[in-house]
Amino acid sequence: MTIKRIGINGEGVGYYKRKAVFIDGAITDEVVKAKITKVERAYLQAELVEIEKRSPDRQKPPCPVYELCGGCQLQHMTYEAQLKAKEEIVREAFSRYADRRELPLRPIYGMEEPWHYRNKAQLQLGWQQDKLVAGLYAANSHKLIDISECTVQEQPINEAYKALKQLMRELDIEPYDERTRSGSVKTIVVRVAKASGKLQVTFVTATDRLPQQRQLVEQIRTHLPQVVTIAHNIHKERSSVIFGAKTVILWGEERLPETLGSVQFALSPRAFFQLNPTQTVKLYDAVKEAAALSGHELVVDAYCGTGTISLWLAEKAREVRGVELIAEAVQDARSNAQFSGIDNALFYEGKAEELIPRWVQQGTRPDVIVVDPPRTGLDAALIQAVLQAKPKRFVYVSCNPSTLAKDCRELLAEGYELEWVQPVDMFPQTAHVEAVILMVRK
Ligand code: SAH
Repeated sequence: MTIKRIGINGEGVGYYKRKAVFIDGAITDEVVKAKITKVERAYLQAELVEIEKRSPDRQKPPCPVYELCGGCQLQHMTYEAQLKAKEEIVREAFSRYADRRELPLRPIYGMEEPWHYRNKAQLQLGWQQDKLVAGLYAANSHKLIDISECTVQEQPINEAYKALKQLMRELDIEPYDERTRSGSVKTIVVRVAKASGKLQVTFVTATDRLPQQRQLVEQIRTHLPQVVTIAHNIHKERSSVIFGAKTVILWGEERLPETLGSVQFALSPRAFFQLNPTQTVKLYDAVKEAAALSGHELVVDAYCGTGTISLWLAEKAREVRGVELIAEAVQDARSNAQFSGIDNALFYEGKAEELIPRWVQQGTRPDVIVVDPPRTGLDAALIQAVLQAKPKRFVYVSCNPSTLAKDCRELLAEGYELEWVQPVDMFPQTAHVEAVILMVRK
């Protein structure tokens, strides 16, 4: 069959008797042979067997463990083709879920250098024969894939893991083994501050104590002078989340300082922060452009996380109110505001779909509402509150074009117009696509 487009998970999509067929690794316009592996009512899943007509966009994946790891989905395509595919994913979502065939779609913001951009890694530790490995478990398996030469992680992170593994070996610190329940270190989390090159290292252990703690700290300070924080998190339970409840700072600063534009952040080991700082600046600048602030506006930033968008906009607003579900993130948002000397950004803990409708009921009328929800999109109660509050500008930041388009459909039917859609490539080499849209009240 002929591949018609790239689907939301990076797979090639073709049609067989009018049914969609999803084929991992196939590229638009290629003619391929594939073997059906799964039959569903609405679609077929198939495995690529042979490429009869090869796309000029196909390239050899630079990463040696691309197929095994599963963290990236588009390394077999040139970067230019990846960007084009992401624009088409957004276009397709609006056509399918918002009935909009004509879309004010702007060219995607890509990266000049689409490699080594990720500022944080959380790698599992384990033995592969007599080699200590830091990596990721392959999808649905117990096989640890060594990603010590990861092509999307910042290079200082790769180098830090190399040094940390070496130190663990020298000090005989064992990785945790789930089967035998022996050893200690489950995960090492390394974060780098783009502005300064400083590193934050967190050891997650299955044991109360981090073995050889004193020597380990000393050695890290000697061999990795860029490290400013060494933290220890205890996570005894067996679960898919990385962190346990308790974190202690073993040495150094409690928070990693980071700068984006003119805004300062201080990141505690567990704080959420965008993973691609270079593209985050472009994303937030698109939000700023969409908000078009003059200094008099009341802005609501829903799903604000650690307050990054609020702080980005505060300088040009009368007041910004951030709303966030997770208490720790709200604390971080407040300290980031203080740290940056911003006093007109206030942060509220709660559900956006509860707090914002309540404010609107009480008569609050924001001039601009910005939302940046999780993949599931907006709650119906929040959409209703927006329609009732009638902000002049509604700015939607989304990591899921399908829910974005569905939510937009409702606003488009109720007096809003779509001014523009700006896709941003936050995660080159993967199928993820982020978009900022501006809606204006008619
Ligand atoms: N705008 C931020 C973070 C966006 S991630 C940034 O750019 O960094 C989405 C955030 O929404 C997360 O921090 C998550 O904790 C929060 N969240 C999820 N459900 C929520 C809800 N119902 N109400 C408010 N916040 C929510």
